[in-house]
Amino acid sequence: MKVVKFGGSSLASAAQLAKVLQIIKEDSERRFVIVSAPGKRSAQDTKVTDALIKYYRDYVAGNDVTKHQQWIIQRYQDMAIELELKPNILERISKSIQKLASLPIENNKFLYDTFLAAGENNNAKLIAAYFSQNGINARYVHPREAGLIVSSEPGNARLLPSSYDKIEELNESDEVLIIPGFFGVTKDNQICTFSRGGSDITGSIIAAGIKADLYENFTDVDGIFAAHPGIIHKPHSIPELTYREMRELAYAGFTVLHDEALIPAYRGKIPLVIKNTNNPTHPGTTIVLKHSNGDIPVVGIAADAHFTSINMSKYLMNREIGFGRKVLQILEDLNIRWEHMPTGIDDLSIILRDRELTPIKEEEILRQLRQKLEVDHAEIEHDLSIIMIVGEKMKSHIGLTATATKALSDNHINIQMISQGSSEVSIMIVINSEQEKAAIKALYKAFFT
Ligand code: ASP
Repeated sequence: MKVVKFGGSSLASAAQLAKVLQIIKEDSERRFVIVSAPGKRSAQDTKVTDALIKYYRDYVAGNDVTKHQQWIIQRYQDMAIELELKPNILERISKSIQKLASLPIENNKFLYDTFLAAGENNNAKLIAAYFSQNGINARYVHPREAGLIVSSEPGNARLLPSSYDKIEELNESDEVLIIPGFFGVTKDNQICTFSRGGSDITGSIIAAGIKADLYENFTDVDGIFAAHPGIIHKPHSIPELTYREMRELAYAGFTVLHDEALIPAYRGKIPLVIKNTNNPTHPGTTIVLKHSNGDIPVVGIAADAHFTSINMSKYLMNREIGFGRKVLQILEDLNIRWEHMPTGIDDLSIILRDRELTPIKEEEILRQLRQKLEVDHAEIEHDLSIIMIVGEKMKSHIGLTATATKALSDNHINIQMISQGSSEVSIMIVINSEQEKAAIKALYKAFFT
C-alpha cells in the first residue's frame, strides 16, 4: 500500500486537482492521501496558509477580517465551481473559515495553529468530496480520528510515539482516506501544527504508521536535482538517494522535502519517492536506506551561503590540554551554535551560520580568545559558502577530492578549508561566497558531464 502526499502547488487549482485524481485512479495501492493547503497558482499568487496568517493577525488586532475570509473562501470556491462539486461542501468550508473569527483570543496558545491548519483541513474536505463524486470510494479523515496525537508545542509539534498503534488501525479501512497534512491534535484536543511545510511530516508519519510499501511525495519538480537549477541549466534529477545523502544535501540547502519528514520514514524503513504531479510518468527520486545497485560515487552537489569562520592560531596549540573545550565554552556561554571545526597543528577554525552572531558577540569572542586563551592570532571572516559534494559510494573510490580540487583550481577558486567526515558521505569545501556559482558549475562539470 502507498501513502501519497501532494504539496500546495499540486492542489492550487481545479486543473491541478484533476491531475491528482488521475494519479490516484491509476494505482489502486494509493490508499492514503495526505494533502497540503492550496498553494500558489503563479509566482505572484498567495498560498492559502499565508492568507490565513494575515487573517489571524487582523483578527487578534481587532481589525475587520471580511476581506481575508472572502479571499480564502474564494480560493476554495473557484475550485469547487470548476470541479462541479455539490454546494454543501463549499457551505461547510465557508462556515469553517468564518468560524475561526469567533475563537477565543485570550489564553489560547493554539489559536494561531488552529487558523493555519484550516488551510489543509478544508482542502482535505474538498478533495474527498471531489474524489467521491468521481468514482473513488474516498473519505475525509481528521488527524484526530487518524490518531495523530502530538506534543503541546505550537508551531513545532512532535508526534507522540504512542500514536503509531492507532494510526496502524487505518489499515482496516478499504476506502481511500484523505488526511489533511501539517497538524495533529494534542492530548487536550487542541490543534497543533508542525513547523512550516510540515505536511511532508504527516505523510511520513502515516507511511510509517500503516507500514506502507512506499511513501510517494508529489511536488512540482522531477525529483531532486543533482545541483541547483538556478545555477546549472537543466541539471539531471537523481534517480536514487540514501537517507544519509539526502540529509547531507538538505543541510546545504536542498529543500524539496521538509527535514523532519525523513525521520519517521527512515525509522519505519519505508522507501520514499519524490515525484512530479505535472509529469507523473517521470520516475523521480527514490530515497532508500541502501543503494540498490550501481557505483556512482557522487550523487549531488549543494551549496549554502551565509557562513562565518572564527579563525585562531596559537603556537603549540596541539600540546595544550583543554584548548578546544575552552573555545567551545566561550560560544556556549554566548548561546551560539556552531557547525564545523576544522583544525591544523597550531590553528583552529569554527564555522557557523551568520545568524548566530552579532557585532557585539563577535567582539566578545575575539576579546576572550585573546585575553583568556592567549591566542597569537584571532579573526572573524564573513561571506563564506560551504559546498557539499555528496555520495555514500565515495568511500570506495579514490581520487574524488583530487577531481574536486583540480576543477576548482582550474577555475581560480581558492579553497579556504576542506573536510571530510570519517563516514565519507560528503566532502565539504569552504570558499568565498562570491565564487559559489562558479564553483558549482566547475564541480558539476567535473563529476557529471
Ligand atoms: N501549508 C503549510 C505551509 O505552507 C504546510 C505545507 O504545505 O506542508 O507551510
